[in-house]
Amino acid sequence: MTMETEQNRKGTGLEGTEGAHGPGDGADRAEAVATPRRTLDIVRRHGFVFRKSLGQHFLTDSRALDRILEAAGLDKTRGALEIGPGIGALTERLAQAAGRVVAIEIDSRLIPILEEVLAPYDNVVLIHADALKIDLRELWRTHFQGLAGVSAVANLPYYAAAPILMALLESRLPWERLVLMVQKEIADRICAAPGGKDYGSLSVAVQYRCEAEPVCRVPPGAFVPSPKVDSAVVRLTPRRKRHVNVSDEQLFFRVVHAAFEQRRKTIANNLSRLLGKEGKGEAVEILRGCGIDPARRGETLSLEEFAALTEALAASGKVTHSGSDSPIG
Ligand code: SAM
Repeated sequence: MTMETEQNRKGTGLEGTEGAHGPGDGADRAEAVATPRRTLDIVRRHGFVFRKSLGQHFLTDSRALDRILEAAGLDKTRGALEIGPGIGALTERLAQAAGRVVAIEIDSRLIPILEEVLAPYDNVVLIHADALKIDLRELWRTHFQGLAGVSAVANLPYYAAAPILMALLESRLPWERLVLMVQKEIADRICAAPGGKDYGSLSVAVQYRCEAEPVCRVPPGAFVPSPKVDSAVVRLTPRRKRHVNVSDEQLFFRVVHAAFEQRRKTIANNLSRLLGKEGKGEAVEILRGCGIDPARRGETLSLEEFAALTEALAASGKVTHSGSDSPIG
């Protein structure tokens, strides 16, 4: 394992310090981390106290890890980025399956534990940083060049799952797959089809860029400590070709955000706030022009309808793309 520090992060080149290893390397030197016994042993030995605010629920269920690894489809020609390795339960499985693993952990107290657990694997780079602040493109350039594919595979901290997911998508890096464990409600929103209660701006933001599929549900008992909620794994496969054509992505996400702003309101009402004084009448006209009933709710609109609406609004010249609406608000 290589530890990337502030000193060596810039330019001294960690390239070439990691080797690709065959399956099983390091694997049979100790019991897997992902068992309640070994996890508690590691945690106690290091006097580690879980920090709820960092979403620290460590996976201790090898079957859940099997499903994650299966969904990721890694091999020794491929790389994996893990966000939040914790004490390394998933990281060691990634190290056994992939050619190269980069793991970003925010909590400095976990670094010595990870150094110990991951010592047998020299295809792992550990970075002590906040995943929400790191330059993912720079990280890719430094660590993931020349691989057949790179996936993000992680059990994300609940509090930051949606922003981390959006940072991965908005990095515009050519991820092969994103296999992510998130709170079950977030997984339902990510994978939701139009018309249901779970469908919203997060569904559109993800499905605009990726095919989204549920992999499995993971109950609280699979973690130490147990969270209060169910978790689920989703697999996102970025679309190589855009599913819908949108000439102004910023406007697209602004329209999506407006459409879901007040879920009980009609699409005409929600859209009108983008259109100024005569908003409602103009919204009705533009919606009718797209073949969309103005009395519908935003949650019933498909990706194709949002795209058509964006193009019509852009062509009308009545709305600009300025504004700071978050696509996942
Ligand atoms: N991967 C481990 C597992 O499956 O057992 C731990 C997952 S735990 C749900 C989330 C991990 O993310 C914790 O180790 C936590 O410290 C870390 N974390 C929280 N916020 C983070 C951030 N902004 N950047 C990087 N790591 C973060």
